Amino acid sequence: MRVPILMYHSVSEAANDAFAPFAVRPAEFARQIAHIADRGMTTLTVADLVARRASGQVIPARSVVITFDDGFSDFMTEALPVLVAHGAVATQYVVSDLVGGTSGWLADVGEGHRPLMDGPAMREADAAGIEIGAHTRTHPRLDDLAPQRAQDEIEGSKSRIEDLIGRAVTTFAYPYGLYHAGTVAAVRRAGFAGACAVRYRTSPPDDDQFALARLIVRRGIRDDAFAALLQGNDSTPGMAVDRLRAWGWRSLRALRRGMSKP
Ligand SMILES: [Zn+2]
Repeated sequence: MRVPILMYHSVSEAANDAFAPFAVRPAEFARQIAHIADRGMTTLTVADLVARRASGQVIPARSVVITFDDGFSDFMTEALPVLVAHGAVATQYVVSDLVGGTSGWLADVGEGHRPLMDGPAMREADAAGIEIGAHTRTHPRLDDLAPQRAQDEIEGSKSRIEDLIGRAVTTFAYPYGLYHAGTVAAVRRAGFAGACAVRYRTSPPDDDQFALARLIVRRGIRDDAFAALLQGNDSTPGMAVDRLRAWGWRSLRALRRGMSKP
């Protein structure tokens, strides 16, 4: 069965123009999770979805996976209480060298000071049923790195997070959704069971367990468009999907590259 895997980043009011698409407002998030609960959908973690598919277990009808990238601290204040209130679980992908620090990799777009979850926050989330997954040590573009450095970013994040939460970390998310065959091989070698990519569609039963398709939930998405997104239909009014892709996800990279020119 096809499963929508939703991808969130920050849940907060405050964000500059460049980052705003990746900062869903708390009121929007609360409505979205209420919608999922009202529809009687079952939430699964990525680890659970991957394990069920690998072992041929049944995936409940109307399942949905809720994921967060980057480990922003606002997860604890704006997202976790909403998830807990609805009995929902989720997966949070954290950047292991920056636990308790700030989002330095976003400095080029003026958002380098967003606080990130610390160890106690990760353990609190874990205790509430949230899967803590790995998102590298420093949030680099893995497709640009020498193999040895990529391997260190991948393996190092896994072991560091395991030390912090005292539990095996079994899934990974590629920063910026970027990977190539060598990256996937490194993720497998590190012992992960699965990994999330960004592919703008619902995840089919035979999805690549190391490049799971995700759907980005952007700030300002209308409630009807969110309902459609759960069907894999990225139909934010007024914008073609391709334009949205270019605008939303890659613009951060383009901006970073443009601004980092000497
Ligand atoms: Zn990220």
